[in-house]
Amino acid sequence: MQFDLLTIFPEIFDSYINESILGRAQKDRLVKIKPHDIRKYAKDKHRVTDDRPYGGGAGMVMKVGPIYRAVRDASIYNTKPTKKGLEHAKSQRIVLLSAKGQPFTQEKAKELSKYKQVILISGRYEGVDERVAKYIADEELSIGPYVLTGGELPSMVVVDAVTRLLPGVLGNEESLEEESYSNIENWKSVMEYSNRGYPQYTRPEVFNPSKNIEWRVPEILLSGHQKKIEEWRKSQSLQ
Ligand code: SAM
Repeated sequence: MQFDLLTIFPEIFDSYINESILGRAQKDRLVKIKPHDIRKYAKDKHRVTDDRPYGGGAGMVMKVGPIYRAVRDASIYNTKPTKKGLEHAKSQRIVLLSAKGQPFTQEKAKELSKYKQVILISGRYEGVDERVAKYIADEELSIGPYVLTGGELPSMVVVDAVTRLLPGVLGNEESLEEESYSNIENWKSVMEYSNRGYPQYTRPEVFNPSKNIEWRVPEILLSGHQKKIEEWRKSQSLQ
């Protein structure tokens, strides 16, 4: 199994993934864990990966383009951009870490342990252009009802919880059966607290993953009608 960790701070992972059980599992070739620097995929000379949000608001939003190119480059399978989103192999899962995502549970860890490649995208700043969730990622996962400064710790939580489920990693696999949460399907109380953040978008207004395909920012955010934008944001965050 392979994890690809997309981030603007790739060195953050170094010590954690190379120590103890994760380090040993990599040496034993049971798992590969590869950090990737999203900045490498920015096209301008200053390697800019964020911009101001459409519709106003505080902070910066991570751009869709560099993340799109990083995902395609990290992918060990062919990927294909379509109007509906990025098509890719069934044995691959693309996850965006997000405070407004579905709760990451032991069940989800088991599910992810079945894939050959899991690509984990870490956000920073005010979050990530919503086109990443809509067109690139298969799902958004949250590690709990609180907001962190970035998706790197959440990515590590996912890598750690999934890796220890892989055959051969712990040695004594029976111990997994008796663990807390191993039989819980839904962590409902966490769902009730799930974050109600609204979708954020930043430049470009139209992103072309290939010549005839357009992934657009919703018109309302370009309208300049602040009241309507607030209403739209409220309606989106309650879904
Ligand atoms: N404005 C966003 C909101 O209200 O949900 C928070 C963005 S947070 C400061 C920056 C990044 O940290 C997010 O894009 C996400 O990748 C990550 N993050 C923060 N809290 C998280 C959580 N509980 N679970 C997963 N990822 C989280």
